[in-house]
Amino acid sequence: EEETSPTKKLVSDHGEKVASHYNTLQEVGLVVRSQSRIFYMRNFNNWLKSVLIGEILDRVRGAGSRNVSVLDLGCGKGGDLLKWRRGGISHIVCADIAEVSVDQCRTRYEEMKRKSHSNEKIFSAQFIASDCSKEVLSERLDDPELMFDICSCQFVYHYSFESEQKADMMLRNACERLKPGGFFIGTTPDAYELVKRLEASDSLSFGNEVFKVSFQSKGSYPLFGCQYHFSLEGVVDVPEFLVYFPLFEHMAKRYNMRLVLKQRFSEFFEEKVKKENHRSLMMKMMALEPFPCEDGGQQATDDKQQYCLAEQH
Ligand code: SAM
Repeated sequence: EEETSPTKKLVSDHGEKVASHYNTLQEVGLVVRSQSRIFYMRNFNNWLKSVLIGEILDRVRGAGSRNVSVLDLGCGKGGDLLKWRRGGISHIVCADIAEVSVDQCRTRYEEMKRKSHSNEKIFSAQFIASDCSKEVLSERLDDPELMFDICSCQFVYHYSFESEQKADMMLRNACERLKPGGFFIGTTPDAYELVKRLEASDSLSFGNEVFKVSFQSKGSYPLFGCQYHFSLEGVVDVPEFLVYFPLFEHMAKRYNMRLVLKQRFSEFFEEKVKKENHRSLMMKMMALEPFPCEDGGQQATDDKQQYCLAEQH
């Protein structure tokens, strides 16, 4: 039985820790979550992803794509499904190492389809449980010819920087099936900021009452496998790896990718919030919080994140 369990085959070493962490994360209801100080941060991250997804969809449509296909690499429980629905895409492939999350993502999608209005055409979808830093995803596609307009990799890519081989496989999966002119969009922690804060700390960790980042040593930072532990109010506590961005950018050239834009969350926020539609979406999303949050949980991590956007050429 062990032999046939896909999860057993999928994961090993750090992948196993990451998968079992996300597999065991409980689905917490809105009420419980809204009491959490990280609620603002979640909303902020969701706002940022909504804006990013909306803008990239405008771009691919502006370039003439009609039936938009998306790869959600590290989809988790499908927190972005609604954003893709709003964007009117045609097809999505959702892949994640955590099998339980993939199942929840599928259930969420089916619920969405079931509850949708009869005149709304919901996109088609495929769900794949896979360690995308080890396995060639294209071999698992229902449609072996499928090409994507967009690969979205939100808060995931840093898990693959454990080794060059894994980081390369993740990139290959993200990019090899992109159409010419297609985009890779992603969000990942800013390694410069993490190292800066670590160096400024008199211990091997830094953070506040909401989050904590702990390293095993400091002073030298290998290009791959530079591990730290990230915990967020007990909600996330997993090993992650620094992503040295110039190296990532260089590696992506192997897959014909050209960097279009890289921004920190704070820069992205300042630029986008000036637009009325983005601002009102932000107000709506933030207004969900019924319990005032003194220190704005958003400060916990948003300023150490960055997002990037790369184009296939
Ligand atoms: N993208 C989702 C979102 O924005 O809500 C989930 C982000 S969550 C912070 C990170 C996700 O990456 C988890 O669902 C985890 O299982 C997934 N992940 C980590 N390593 C992975 C790998 N090697 N292959 C596929 N998924 C992976």
